[in-house]
Amino acid sequence: MRNVIIVGSGCAGNTAAIYTARANLKPLVIIGHEPGGQLSITSEVENFPGFPKGIEGPELVENMKQQAEHFGAEYIYGGVQEADLAGKAPGEPFRLNIDDEWHESRTIIIASGASARWLGLPNEQKLIGKGVSSCATCDGAFYKGRKVLVVGGGDSAMEEANFLTRFASEVLLVHRSHHFRASKIMLDRARNNPKIKFVTGTVVDDVYDSSLGEVTGVKLRNVDTGETWDQKVDGYFVAIGHIPNTKPFVGQIDLDADGYIVSHGGARTNLPGVFHAGDVQDRVYRQAITAAGAGCMAAIEAERFLEAEGH
Ligand code: NAP
Repeated sequence: MRNVIIVGSGCAGNTAAIYTARANLKPLVIIGHEPGGQLSITSEVENFPGFPKGIEGPELVENMKQQAEHFGAEYIYGGVQEADLAGKAPGEPFRLNIDDEWHESRTIIIASGASARWLGLPNEQKLIGKGVSSCATCDGAFYKGRKVLVVGGGDSAMEEANFLTRFASEVLLVHRSHHFRASKIMLDRARNNPKIKFVTGTVVDDVYDSSLGEVTGVKLRNVDTGETWDQKVDGYFVAIGHIPNTKPFVGQIDLDADGYIVSHGGARTNLPGVFHAGDVQDRVYRQAITAAGAGCMAAIEAERFLEAEGH
């Protein structure tokens, strides 16, 4: 039986792994379906303390993993298919089914993060990977000299739009409202970028052309007037927020209406011995540094829990 299983290998999971490994608890880290979490699909990270010139997201998260492995953390590929956490007697292990194999542990740290949200249009879903993307960093380079569209009005949308101007000839930023959630600095940066054209009060009704197997354009609708029109674009990027990765934990731990883990203070879930870290619980801050801090908190709580149980 393990002392600690950490679900997720983003900033939160890796930090929890560094701390628990350094405490000699030999954690097992389940890498999950998005290895490295959201940092692995981010370009430059300018606000993680300690890197005055910034650092690429994938490099930062890989450094964290290596640091954890240096202290003895073990990483395995795979995702949680099923969780058996609730209703345990004291001392009884928690169980996780990782790709058809059950693993037992005295504590669990859930750091499974959140995944990109899509508009959910049928043709959008059909064209994922064929011109439809949720990751400008991953796919932006395919659009050299071409016209692309970004959906969203938060920091992610501004960041994606700015990043895409490195390649694209023009970026249309389509936002359903006339107000932006994006921070002023990110919004100003996008507004001052001559390659970005803002199209506000507008939604995407359809994505063309699934019969060709590539993105050729979109159908847009002005929400104020109801007017619709076709817009030619070569790429379609969605940046409208995230959904917490808690599906295997439904019915096992307390989740809120949107599926985020409900915190019971610190890193505690409603189940003693099961802790949360990072975006899987945090809908407010959602930063690399806050996820790392949360990973540290969960690790310390797991250590204390094990100590109190006499391990
Ligand atoms: P967000 O702040 O929640 O913004 C989501 C955006 O998508 C909003 O503009 C929202 O519109 C729009 N949206 C949501 N559902 C939609 C739908 N079905 N159709 C059309 N539009 C829809 O999400 P985010 O931009 O991903 O940012 C999340 C967090 O990460 C924030 O705290 C942000 O500050 C942070 N972040 C920081 C950085 C950075 O500092 N470098 C970069 C990226 C993200 P409405 O406003 O109309 O609801």
